[in-house]
Amino acid sequence: NKEHLYKELNNIDGRGYKAYRQIQNNYYDFGKFIIGIPYVQGDPYASPSSVIIKTKGKIKDFPEWLFENEIRLQAVEDYLTRVITNNIKKYARGNRGSGKSGRINIVHTGQEVIKRTSVEFSRDYIEARLTVGLPAKGRRVLGHQAQDLFFKEIPKIAENSLFLANINQQALENHVRVVEDQHVLRELLSSQGLLAFIADGSILPRRSGVDDRPLSSNKVVPFQSPAEYELSFKLPHKGEIKGMGIKEGITLIVGGGYHGKSTLLNAIERGVYNHIPGDGREYVVTRHSAFKIRAEDGRRVERVDISPFINNLPQGETTKDFSTDNASGSTSQAANIIEALELGAGVLLIDEDTCATNFMIRDARMQKLVADKNEPITPFIDKVKPLYNEHNVSTILVVGGAGDYFDVADRVIMMNKYRPIAVTEEVKDIASKLPTKRESKLNTSFGQICQRIPEPASINPRKKGRIKVKTHGMDTIQFGRENIDLSYLEQLVNQEQSKTIADILTYAITNDIIDGQRTIREILDRIYEHLQQKGLKIISPFNSPAGAYVLPRPYEVGGALNRLRSLKIKD
Ligand code: ADP
Ligand code: MG
Repeated sequence: NKEHLYKELNNIDGRGYKAYRQIQNNYYDFGKFIIGIPYVQGDPYASPSSVIIKTKGKIKDFPEWLFENEIRLQAVEDYLTRVITNNIKKYARGNRGSGKSGRINIVHTGQEVIKRTSVEFSRDYIEARLTVGLPAKGRRVLGHQAQDLFFKEIPKIAENSLFLANINQQALENHVRVVEDQHVLRELLSSQGLLAFIADGSILPRRSGVDDRPLSSNKVVPFQSPAEYELSFKLPHKGEIKGMGIKEGITLIVGGGYHGKSTLLNAIERGVYNHIPGDGREYVVTRHSAFKIRAEDGRRVERVDISPFINNLPQGETTKDFSTDNASGSTSQAANIIEALELGAGVLLIDEDTCATNFMIRDARMQKLVADKNEPITPFIDKVKPLYNEHNVSTILVVGGAGDYFDVADRVIMMNKYRPIAVTEEVKDIASKLPTKRESKLNTSFGQICQRIPEPASINPRKKGRIKVKTHGMDTIQFGRENIDLSYLEQLVNQEQSKTIADILTYAITNDIIDGQRTIREILDRIYEHLQQKGLKIISPFNSPAGAYVLPRPYEVGGALNRLRSLKIKD
């Protein structure tokens, strides 16, 4: 029980840091809850120790409806993580001593509600997973400071976070309702032939490029659907909701510069995740399989069939089996699309701002000057329809400059002073009065999508024989000897997701899921089966479950694998 811990911390006071090992793997009874220490850090500067707080006995105080499905449990877990974050701010004194001494943390939460491992909520128990910097002065144990942590601060956090009596129940239940409604709404999209839905009244703009909270100023224009595209849904909690639906097929978002086009597309990109109440995008939902595409020059490409877009390279290199260490804007964008399709993406989201122009369009004059046989690129405009017709993959495309796209659009939304207007009819009219005179290749077929099998030996998380997998910020994974650059996977939302991707890839290789037989798609299916059956925490290379995992989508995991520079694909 807890007296042992108290004594132990007394005994080791002033000793070398390794003395903390005495309390590793011990669980102490604090009456209403348990504090456990599954892992003790090696020194005060290393990654902090893991500490769990866990309730005792069945959970009886929380309302029964919260336990009834997976999404509710997930929403409660998310809410409790945020409660703990606040209570850490309130009750933890923070840094004292060397290195990370005295710091208590739980995984960082942003605007999204995603499956995490920071809190486990079930009928049997609630467990929260914290990290704690066990205090030291230099490398000497500060036992009395550690007593303060374990007997004052952490118990306060536990008492105020794990028991309903001390939690704002109304806010909790509202959180769960809002999350479940979004989940249900997203599930309804396909049956209505929709790709995305943006509710009236949504606040789309963000405070800044580095602050994802809603822009708050009296100049913000709440979203209002044009009558032509307005739909309504009935949600289990909120009831009726109205907004703009975006249908399958090809949708253009047009409008003058600075009128809100990219902001709308960004909200759609993030609509694959659920958002917290008050985010402004709570009822902006997008099909889970929607994937942002952009140019990414400099990236490596390994044996991708980019021939739907690129052929007849000047030196006669094949594009059915294309590799490069340094892709151009257009070849990188082609590879990004083909890889997304290979992974099963069902919707492509594209913003002209971040595209290679020559990949998107070739106008009549350029067609005249440069004969077809000297131009390797079949621009996206000629493939966007075949892609939909043959592979059932839709596109939502922001264009400010390339009116040639009017010919291939099924629907057009114009953003005007942050207000969407339905302009499909007008666009068709203009297209017939002002023909582009470009020779379109509308009868070309898209072609098959490759399914590649990776060579397991080329995916090596080890450096000098030991697994070495880390993240540096959100954008870089260090994977063995290689760095993986994730900065152009724009639907990643936080560093923990990147870390989770790194450990998922390690799990897949060390558990022979990547076995030299499975295609990348099959590998991802298998990985997600495992995560579904055994829980996200199984990917932890330690025996104790790490609390900082945040579930990524398979598209981002595949995206990371495709960006691993050592990746080799089998014949
Ligand atoms: P575009 O892509 O059309 O050039 P952006 O989407 O980048 O325009 O938006 C331009 C600016 O307007 C951004 O700073 C954005 O935050 C702001 N903005 C976007 N939508 C709104 C809105 N509904 N209300 C107020 N400001 C907005
Ligand atoms: Mg823009």
